[in-house]
Amino acid sequence: MEIGIENDMPTYSGGLGVLAWDTVKSFAKMKVPAVGVTLLNRRGYITQRLDDKGNQTDYDSFDWDIEKFLDPLSVSTKVQIEGQDVEIKVWKREVESELGGSIPVFFLDTNISENDERFRNITDHLYLGDQRYRFFQEVVLGIGGFRTLRELGFEPEVYHMNEGHSSLLTLELLKNENMNPDSVKRQCVFTTHTPEKSGHDTFSFELVSDVLRDYISISKLREFGGTDYLNMSLLALNLSRYSNAVSRRHGVVSKEMFGGREIDSITNGVHLPRWVSEKIGKIYDKYLPNWRKDPYQLRQAHTIPKDELWKAHKEEKKNLINYVNSQTSVDMDERVFTMAFARRATPYKRADLIFWDPDKLENIAEDKDFQIIFAGKAHPQDFGGKEIIRNIFSNIKKLSDKIKMVYLEDYDIELAKILTSGVDLWLNTPEQDREACGTSGMKAACNGIPQLSTLDGWWIEGHIEDVTGWKIGPEPGNKVEKKHEASEFYEKLENVIIPKFYTKKSEWGKVMLNTIAYNASHFHTERMVGEYISNAYSSDMFQLGNASI
Ligand SMILES: *Cc1c(COP(=O)(O)O)cnc(C)c1O
Repeated sequence: MEIGIENDMPTYSGGLGVLAWDTVKSFAKMKVPAVGVTLLNRRGYITQRLDDKGNQTDYDSFDWDIEKFLDPLSVSTKVQIEGQDVEIKVWKREVESELGGSIPVFFLDTNISENDERFRNITDHLYLGDQRYRFFQEVVLGIGGFRTLRELGFEPEVYHMNEGHSSLLTLELLKNENMNPDSVKRQCVFTTHTPEKSGHDTFSFELVSDVLRDYISISKLREFGGTDYLNMSLLALNLSRYSNAVSRRHGVVSKEMFGGREIDSITNGVHLPRWVSEKIGKIYDKYLPNWRKDPYQLRQAHTIPKDELWKAHKEEKKNLINYVNSQTSVDMDERVFTMAFARRATPYKRADLIFWDPDKLENIAEDKDFQIIFAGKAHPQDFGGKEIIRNIFSNIKKLSDKIKMVYLEDYDIELAKILTSGVDLWLNTPEQDREACGTSGMKAACNGIPQLSTLDGWWIEGHIEDVTGWKIGPEPGNKVEKKHEASEFYEKLENVIIPKFYTKKSEWGKVMLNTIAYNASHFHTERMVGEYISNAYSSDMFQLGNASI
């Protein structure tokens, strides 16, 4: 549904879109014979504005110059919506690797004069609009995407549905395969990216039949997509030979969620050359010169002298603090221990767990100086997320005499880069079993920045206490209380983390090196794509997986 290529293209909302580009970039580098398909998202997601109380107003995202970023193609294709033809035009972006390979990504666009007025905006808004609008989009993405590939002359061996949004393609494939589900399964793999219910689109059969008409019988749809309503993830699961979640724990949680179905896991990664900052990259170039080609080289990070790493980090930190001070009046200090919490504002991510006990936080600040930067948009309909932003604003104000804190507007790729390379500690406090993976902590890790996080998503795999960072709360699957998580957060900050930062510089440097050696060397998209190739795409592997070994 989305891809986050660069800041001036508002064609993404958050982690899912950013990951899509990181993935395609690694495909290109590894010369995987693949192409990508997405919607144009002509009007993008939202622009966030916050007033002085933290009330979020959602504006349309900025206009972007499509022709500057994409090439129009002369092919077009059609889908039928509510019995009418809807013509789809195609744009292309060639994603090139500095190391040789290149992968095209196709953007589908219905804004053409031949189309009925009300169908022209189908590919305008990402994750906005009502159920019917969303289903129109998924018809264009799934069925239109499939037809576009055929029109362009591609005959994929494997269709990888990245989230359920594209899963109507299974129906088009089913029709192409004489309604034989086994033939469809052989060609499809599916990745689920969230354990959140709201992330799995469902549509009433009434709506579905009104939109699709005689395209397919509802009884066929019920067979694969759910009895009471059409569940897009279930449709994809039932018609794929292989499905996966995006971290090990998420695999366990997804399996429960989908009634014990076979769901493997492939933990996400980040594309290192995109997320390693300029200064840190130069240090890697000097000590691990092959790292851009072979990211596993970062395993040898311990050959980097700590003081050189520290110097590079300090420059990136200065860059961040200058940016914050240019945007706000908070007047942060580059010598002070700096943390950030930046991600979508939504209740389960709990950006405000830090303020469970504001007096305690103030108390810690009495003799241990720290400052905190927040950022993140709430989805326009996420009223709980918007409430969290207001709550953070009120706490920032209340504590402003004692602690320098700020909430930056309009979190985007550029801001993510500045933050994940400039802070001293990355914060992450999702509720247990709610975060599928989380990738921003990996972006921090590839700049040598450790994380303090609850044990969820990728952190269960990346965390070694006091070595690669710190955890709060219990091991997964154990009973958890918010109050204990909060008190553990304060405890670690006050007695372990901040003292280490100010008084044990060499130990701090070691944590930074460990973070690179253990986590940056592993949680990258080259490792991830490698796992997709061997575990998901390769049909021989699939047959092996089916045998009783
Ligand atoms: C990486 C990224 C995210 C995802 O962060 P999570 O840790 O997975 O929540 C969201 N938005 C932007 C702009 C990003 O770069």
